[in-house]
Amino acid sequence: MYAELFRLNGRAAFVTGGSRGIGFACAEALGEAGARVAISARSRDEGEKAVRQLRQKGIEAIYLPADISNESAAQQVVRQAAAELGGLDILVNNAGIARHCDSLKLEPETWDEVINTNLTGLFWCCRAAIETMSAAGRGSIVNIGSISGYISNLPQNQVAYNASKAGVHMLTKSLAGEFAKSNIRINAVAPGYIETAMTQGGLDDPEWSKIWLGMTPLGRAGKASEVAAAVLFLASDAASYITGSVLTIDGGYTIH
Ligand code: NDP
Repeated sequence: MYAELFRLNGRAAFVTGGSRGIGFACAEALGEAGARVAISARSRDEGEKAVRQLRQKGIEAIYLPADISNESAAQQVVRQAAAELGGLDILVNNAGIARHCDSLKLEPETWDEVINTNLTGLFWCCRAAIETMSAAGRGSIVNIGSISGYISNLPQNQVAYNASKAGVHMLTKSLAGEFAKSNIRINAVAPGYIETAMTQGGLDDPEWSKIWLGMTPLGRAGKASEVAAAVLFLASDAASYITGSVLTIDGGYTIH
């Protein structure tokens, strides 16, 4: 009985930023559990390559190009995903960018780029999905937050990123409260340092990785699959009584 709760047969799932890293692993996890999956990303080459990889694993997958930092593009791609998949049961808001910069040197364009992608675009994706899910009477949204929504990272300065992720956590709780009555569960995960293109530079830098991994009790960076497994749990009926939660996946980084 319990294993069945993780199955997603017949469900439709959309993962923003599903072309690589954590988003790709989420698409893989949801697809392996039986969902048909749509992914978006700006780079068509990477998006189409990811879809080929998913299909090779027997997963029903499509790629939808979109820049979700634009409000109307974000809403439109979610509606398109729902139309092409024949419904939308699961949305994973994963697309995100990080920019390291001292606050006194931060340009307005950089602030806007990070906030528009990580927070504003994510909200509009939620909004469009909630419209479809409300009509269907059920749905599950998982937002990718970060430990940067709780703590200020060392050694890099990234005020816009940290503020965006704190916003994702609070947005998650706010929407969860508002739409529980519509049978839509909305949760987030807060990963620590995960091996992806986003963190490669830092993990390859001996000084940075000494700090990052030295502050991580498990003593290593996480893998995208270790985030995806938690996203699968939250998206599935195994988490049917969980809404408004932010699940930390950080090798213990934030226990200090
Ligand atoms: P990657 O850089 O490897 O992947 C990011 C994905 O998002 C790509 O598919 C990228 O495709 C897509 N993307 C970025 N901007 C946009 C946009 N404007 N519109 C549509 N798609 C976009 O990053 P990660 O896999 O590491 O990160 C995924 C999420 O996890 C992010 O939200 C990140 O903040 C979060 N996270 C990551 C951690 C880590 O240690 N790696 C830790 C905590 C949180 P394209 O560029 O082609 O658009």
